[in-house]
Amino acid sequence: MAAHKRDYYEVLSVPRTAGTDEIKKAYRKLALKFHPDRNPGNKEAEEKFKEISEAYEVLSDTQKRQAYDQFGHAGAQGGFGGFGGGRSAEGSFGFEDLFGDVFEDFFGGGRRKTRARGGERRGARGEDLRYMLNISFEEAAFGKKVTLDIPKDVPCETCHGSGAKPGTKPTACTQCEGTGEIRFQQGFFSIARTCNRCRGEGMMISSPCATCRGEGKVRMHKKMEVDIPGGVDTGQSLRLSKEGNAGAQGGPAGDLYVVLQVGEHAIFSRENNDVICEVPVSFAQAALGTEIEVPTLYGKVQMKIPAGTQWGKVFRLKDKGFPDVHGYGKGDQLVKIVVETPTKLSSEQKEILKRFADISGDDVEPLRKGFLNKMKDFLGCLFLVF
Ligand SMILES: [Zn+2]
Ligand SMILES: [Zn+2]
Repeated sequence: MAAHKRDYYEVLSVPRTAGTDEIKKAYRKLALKFHPDRNPGNKEAEEKFKEISEAYEVLSDTQKRQAYDQFGHAGAQGGFGGFGGGRSAEGSFGFEDLFGDVFEDFFGGGRRKTRARGGERRGARGEDLRYMLNISFEEAAFGKKVTLDIPKDVPCETCHGSGAKPGTKPTACTQCEGTGEIRFQQGFFSIARTCNRCRGEGMMISSPCATCRGEGKVRMHKKMEVDIPGGVDTGQSLRLSKEGNAGAQGGPAGDLYVVLQVGEHAIFSRENNDVICEVPVSFAQAALGTEIEVPTLYGKVQMKIPAGTQWGKVFRLKDKGFPDVHGYGKGDQLVKIVVETPTKLSSEQKEILKRFADISGDDVEPLRKGFLNKMKDFLGCLFLVF
């Protein structure tokens, strides 16, 4: 496509004030003329058709049109996922989505809804369900078997999901003869409309099941066991195939997504598969070195803190982190040392610390020495400026 995009209103040859109908009409006219099926092998027509479709996709959508009017091409594409969202997998340029069945015959078919003819009736697929599950930090590490109580639609037991009273069967709709659509001729076109009597299902239930009133499904609480694997994290979800809502009148069930929310821990936090733990030590311990007890997910661990350990120093305890949820080993535990400055000193402690300061004299540690030197340089420059 050309780098420069033409104005969408110009592409469809409509004024900026055009209403929805006018835009639709203009699009139909141009789409008919440039549709690839009518211009086989014609690259120019194909590009044109894409351009027209893109313009229509934006101008026919109130929200996208508003953004386009305000921000131009960038506005129409940014923030709305660009083009291509919601397009059917097999539809070329969203063609069938725009016109429904109107052009199906005109352009020689394409996708056609399959309908049961007097035989097995297949209703719409049931909805997917989301279930938010809170688990603790430890449960996320080691996994858990949970029993969920999920309110959902299940197939009606009385009619086994068919929606028809036991002993009866759904029959083909008499208005559309089981096809689910009514066809009629209008000019060039053979137009198909969804049958209003059976709402496109093709089948009718003359004596509906009393339990589910012909729905084929009933609302129930269903208990189910779910195995949460060790290593999961917040936001991850488990997909349980066909455990969502039952479909209408025997249609396939949707899926159930168990979305995980991992609770906070009093002393641990998490970074990928590593466990982070801040351990406070006194400044005397940090200076002299010590041995401390560190909690891990797997129990207590003795750890040596060498003399002269600085604030923020991180020690790594190998393989004490979360197991990888896909089984690729384990994370580590990172122990971050926090040196605590004493706040409540007795007079004796103060005395000793003062003595400590006195005998330390000008014997400054490298960190402070470096800082003092840099500060001198900086202030020196400052005096030069003034
Ligand atoms: Zn029933
Ligand atoms: Zn019908």
